[in-house]
Amino acid sequence: MIDLHLHSSCSDGSERPERIVELAHEAGCSAIALTDHDTIAGVAAAQRRGGELGLEVIAGCEISSGHPAGSMHLLCHFLDDPTSPLVAELTTLSSNRVARNVALAARLTALGLPISYAEVLAEGGRRPGREDGIGRPHFAAVLVRNGAADSIGDAFARYLGPGAPGYVGIERITATEVIALARRSGAVVTLAHPLSLGLTAIELDKVVGALARSGLVGLESYYGRYDQAARDELAALAARHGLVATGGSDFHGSYKPDLSVGTGRGELRVDDAILAVLRGRRP
Ligand code: AMP
Ligand code: ZN
Ligand code: FE
Ligand code: FE
Repeated sequence: MIDLHLHSSCSDGSERPERIVELAHEAGCSAIALTDHDTIAGVAAAQRRGGELGLEVIAGCEISSGHPAGSMHLLCHFLDDPTSPLVAELTTLSSNRVARNVALAARLTALGLPISYAEVLAEGGRRPGREDGIGRPHFAAVLVRNGAADSIGDAFARYLGPGAPGYVGIERITATEVIALARRSGAVVTLAHPLSLGLTAIELDKVVGALARSGLVGLESYYGRYDQAARDELAALAARHGLVATGGSDFHGSYKPDLSVGTGRGELRVDDAILAVLRGRRP
C-alpha cells in the first residue's frame, strides 16, 4: 500500500513530516509522497525517518494552478533535484501565498471578524519572517477557535471559499506552465481530486484529454474522499487518455480530521504497483 498525497506542518497539515512517516509505517505503507503546498521543505526530514523505518519517501508538492476550468490542483512527484526549475518556481509561489495570506487577514479583519495575521501565524507554529506554507485551513482554525465558525468546513462556507465575502484570490501559475517546468525537472504531474473542478463527465474528459496532450502523466483516481464508483470512473478516464491512475489520502491531520494516512476514511488501499508505473513515466 502507498499514499501519494500527504500534507505536513510544513504547509497546512497538523503533523510533522517525521510523524507522517511513522503513521504511514503503522498503516502498512511501503512508500509515500509528501506533497505540501508549494514547498518541499519537509521532504528531507521525512526521508531521514523513512530511512530508519524502511519506508520510501518521494519528494513531491501540490500546486494550485490557474485553468479556465477553475483552480486546478496539481501534484508533482520526484522533485529530487533541488536546483531544478520547478523547485525554483516554488519560491515564487510561496511568496505569492504569503502576500495572499497578508491580504486575506486584512480582509477578514475589515469584515469585523475576530482574527489577526499574528494569530494565524501562531496557529501554524510560524513567526514573522518564517511565514511559508500557511494556508486557509489555518485561518479557518482561528475563526473556529474565536467563535466565528462552527467547524473548518463552516469557516470555508461562510468566509473563505470562492464566492464568500472573505475570499481573496492568489496569483497563479497555469497548469501548462507547471507541466512544462516538471518536464524540465525530471518530475511528473498528476491532476489532484479531479472532481473538485465541478465539471460534467463530458467536460472533464475534454479538459483531461487536453492536459494529457500537453504532458500530464497521472489522474488522482483513488482519492481519500471519493467513493468506489467515482474512483472506478476516474481510473477509466485515466486509461482512456493514457494516464496513470494514482491515489492518496490528502491527509492534513486535524485540519481534515476524517482522513488517515494511507487508509483515507478507512477503506482506501492504493496499490504499490502504481508507484513503479508512475516512476516509469519520468521524463
Ligand atoms: P489555500 O492553499 O490556502 O488556498 O487553501 C487550500 C486548502 O484548503 C487545501 O488544503 C484545501 O483542501 C482546503 N480547503 C479548500 N476548501 C475547503 C473546504 N470547503 N473545507 C475544508 N478545507 C478546504
Ligand atoms: Zn492543504
Ligand atoms: Fe488539493
Ligand atoms: Fe492536498
